[in-house]
Amino acid sequence: MISAFNETAAKEFVGHYSDIPEELALRIYTSHLIGRNPDLVLHGGGNTSVKLNQKNIFKENQEILYVKGSGVDLATIEPEGFSGLDLSFLRKLRNLDSLSDDEMENQLELRKVESSSPNPSVEALLHAFLPHKYIDHTHADSVLILTNLKHGRSLIKEALGSKVSVLPYTMSGLPLAKEVVSQYEKNTDVEAIVILNHGIFTFGEDPRTSYERMIEYVNKAESFIKKEMRGKALITPRTDISSFKNMEAAPARVAQTLRGVCAHQASNGNLRRFYAETRNEPDLLNFSLSREAQTLCTSGVLTPDHAIRTKNKMVYIESVPDNDNDLKDVIKQNVESFKKYYHQYFQKQLKNKGIDRKELDPYPRVFLIAGLGLISLGFTRKDARIAADIAEHTIRAKLNAGALGEYIPIIDSHIFDMEYWSLQQRKLHLSSSTPLLQGQVAVITGGGGAIGFGIADRLLATGAVVVLSDIDEPRLQKARSILVEKYSESQVEIIAFDVTNYPSVEKAFDKISRKLGGIDIVIPNAGIAHVARIEDLDPDKLDQVIAVNLKGTFTTIKASIPVFKRQGTGGNIVVISSKNVFDPGVAFGAYSASKAGAHQISKIAALELAELGVRVNMINPDAVFGDEEISSKLWDLIGPDRMKCRGLDCQGLKEYYRNRNLLKASVLAEHVGNAVVFFAGNQTPTTGASLPVDGGIPAAFPR
Ligand SMILES: [Zn+2]
Repeated sequence: MISAFNETAAKEFVGHYSDIPEELALRIYTSHLIGRNPDLVLHGGGNTSVKLNQKNIFKENQEILYVKGSGVDLATIEPEGFSGLDLSFLRKLRNLDSLSDDEMENQLELRKVESSSPNPSVEALLHAFLPHKYIDHTHADSVLILTNLKHGRSLIKEALGSKVSVLPYTMSGLPLAKEVVSQYEKNTDVEAIVILNHGIFTFGEDPRTSYERMIEYVNKAESFIKKEMRGKALITPRTDISSFKNMEAAPARVAQTLRGVCAHQASNGNLRRFYAETRNEPDLLNFSLSREAQTLCTSGVLTPDHAIRTKNKMVYIESVPDNDNDLKDVIKQNVESFKKYYHQYFQKQLKNKGIDRKELDPYPRVFLIAGLGLISLGFTRKDARIAADIAEHTIRAKLNAGALGEYIPIIDSHIFDMEYWSLQQRKLHLSSSTPLLQGQVAVITGGGGAIGFGIADRLLATGAVVVLSDIDEPRLQKARSILVEKYSESQVEIIAFDVTNYPSVEKAFDKISRKLGGIDIVIPNAGIAHVARIEDLDPDKLDQVIAVNLKGTFTTIKASIPVFKRQGTGGNIVVISSKNVFDPGVAFGAYSASKAGAHQISKIAALELAELGVRVNMINPDAVFGDEEISSKLWDLIGPDRMKCRGLDCQGLKEYYRNRNLLKASVLAEHVGNAVVFFAGNQTPTTGASLPVDGGIPAAFPR
């Protein structure tokens, strides 16, 4: 790895952050350099600090420690991501013999110079006690590879040289901070401190020195490993695992089944589902088919910090049966034995430590599947991605370590202390209330139009991950860019497919499952219209409208059934029907008849899918126009004709429809979205029902 420090870029940074001290701006610059290198830190791991002299409110000089906020990602940290703390006070804490977690948190909170700044890193005291102006800390893979080997201490010494101190693993907080500073005081020539099974600290009086020392020492570890590895094989391929007969379908089947097996009741009684993330780079595939896979999956994390993201062990699945029931059995057995292991680990640690804690859910987060690669789980998509990234790095690092010597797992006691540390669990946001549809994946057809957009917006607001589909890609892109701006990039996916073509729908559902783990909410919404009286209606036009509105609803429902079956966690189909089903209009035969057919097939689906716990309900909107940004494709098409018929302009037409209903309400796409959320949230035990969203049209009352 080479130093990414660039004087020009550093100067630009200082210019960009002209309202903060130059030293802090440079601190942000080198923090980004570290955060953007996944071989150094991953997702909020590691931390950095700078010590500044500043005037307080009385114009007195005060030493302030700016340290990274807990869980803040170094790659994107901004000034607000640092917490400024009264340094001279923090230094006094060194005189204490012990400090409880609550008291440490309290003291750090009290010493903030800005009350709104984030909770400081759990390693804040270490940064405070060391005298250096700049301190950088990472969990570099290569350093961990060496420290986690049988003779880790001597290997690190040999690789990094004499200007490095090596300390045994100590839990972060006051004990580690005191240990590190006294070690430093014994030899003030050292340029770095390595903590076994944890990571490396470097320091300096300027940002470049501290950062480049990090690069220098990590490089030393890397080249030592490279040299030692020469000629050694990473894996021994297995010959006893035959490849799958149906390799094409396997990844989606496994992801859907896995996700279903791991869904469980939360404490509030709701079903808690995971999102899945799949990784299948060639080296991971080879590893999954190696003799080393089983042992390596269960030999533990590289550093205890990772345990809250990945749990300490991964699950290795070495066979993927072609039959769905057999596959479910295999996955169930593996998950059950993991849960048993996790309960035992938890109980044993409580007993050994004589303490009481609330057990986290016992479900695995990372699976390695022979021939398929890695699947990780997370309650949010971000969590699933973090677990996958950490697992990938862990596998690669442990393969290297395994080729170099004996890998020594970190003892359970250390893992437990970190996993059940309140300051660490805070990163999981366990206490914040879970949005209604978090954990669920919704697919909306006709996602490029006004109603599809309105539905997506409401589902996103309630925590679901939404997949918008349409045949019109530019419209899809536009809808996505608006929604990503409002929500997050990881919550919105788009996929173009043609609802009139069943194989195209099947393929899309397979792709969605590979990407997200499965599907829970299906919204057949794609529709087209054609205005013509029966005597003028071209039979081919009728076929086209039926293909999208009726057949398209059928294909979407049909393709979802195998997904629901494999998941075994129920689900919701919410069909966007029409007011016209109950109250058709002249010259609107193709639309009304095809929508009525779709409505009827949805009722049949309600009858047939109830045994899977899948509810099928219909929403009957009327006159949803959309806005200038995302218009209604239906009204783009029929609006001009309707305006001409009634001698109205666009605004006049909207008013006409508003005044036509009992409540004199403008019906908006978000109203349809609210109705979808009502059904998708399982608020009532309802299936086969129709809900009008039309402001009240007596002729269209469902009956
Ligand atoms: Zn650390």
